[in-house]
Amino acid sequence: MLSIKDLHANVEEKSILKGLSLDIKPGEVHAIMGPNGAGKSTLGNVLAGREGYSVTGGSVQFNNEALLDLDAEERARKGLFLAFQYPVEIPGVSNMEFLKASVDAVREANGQEPYSSVDFIKLAREKCKAVNLPADFLKRGVNEGFSGGEKKRNELLQMMLLEPTLCILDETDSGLDIDALQVVADGVNALRSPERSFIVVTHYQRLLDYIVPDYVHVLADGKIVKSGGKELALELEKDGYRWIAGESA
Ligand code: ADP
Ligand code: MG
Ligand code: MG
Repeated sequence: MLSIKDLHANVEEKSILKGLSLDIKPGEVHAIMGPNGAGKSTLGNVLAGREGYSVTGGSVQFNNEALLDLDAEERARKGLFLAFQYPVEIPGVSNMEFLKASVDAVREANGQEPYSSVDFIKLAREKCKAVNLPADFLKRGVNEGFSGGEKKRNELLQMMLLEPTLCILDETDSGLDIDALQVVADGVNALRSPERSFIVVTHYQRLLDYIVPDYVHVLADGKIVKSGGKELALELEKDGYRWIAGESA
């Protein structure tokens, strides 16, 4: 479903991704770990098509299409979802309006009718319950005054409504207490299916106790330097990333 080959990308003329390759099949969960500044968020942002990143080499196929030829909106419509490390506030737009607009855009791209307001409200309330958010949450401004945990639950809510085929979670666990972490993990696990894949970027092994990945990769200096199964996360927790410098020295 996703095939990244020898990807190179710059942020403001600075080379960040330096030949990154990664293959993800439908239904797989891939965790990406690695030291600060390695390029983990850059990878998510490049895949999602955010502005400010220029691809200087390599290719990305997403469901047999050249992903890099599509703009950010088209990528989202084709099923790619990036949950932000720092979700943005959009004051003045209610969460309900925002969610309905994004869901309807995806439906439209797939030849489906937009939801009626009544049907969407019903659906959104149901999903709110599933992620432990009160229904009046939908009336508030997008991320306006949301606590850390509420922002994450809101991302999860968005994901449940959009039903993407590739979900990229960038440090979704940062700043979460153990209960909120559990809610996020339960939500992600409920969304796991044979057609849906996940890239879970995390600093901590802890999240991977709850969201058990099929593969763990270490991203360092713009490349995947090691890949393994879920046990690799435990080794990293124990040994840190110093061995990376040691091995290349
Ligand atoms: P990670 O998520 O692995 O911690 P990032 O992808 O956020 O790493 O960052 C990789 C490198 O790119 C860092 O050196 C960071 O300072 C730089 N970088 C990221 N975004 C920007 C930006 N918008 N402007 C300038 N430098 C950036
Ligand atoms: Mg970072
Ligand atoms: Mg990051």
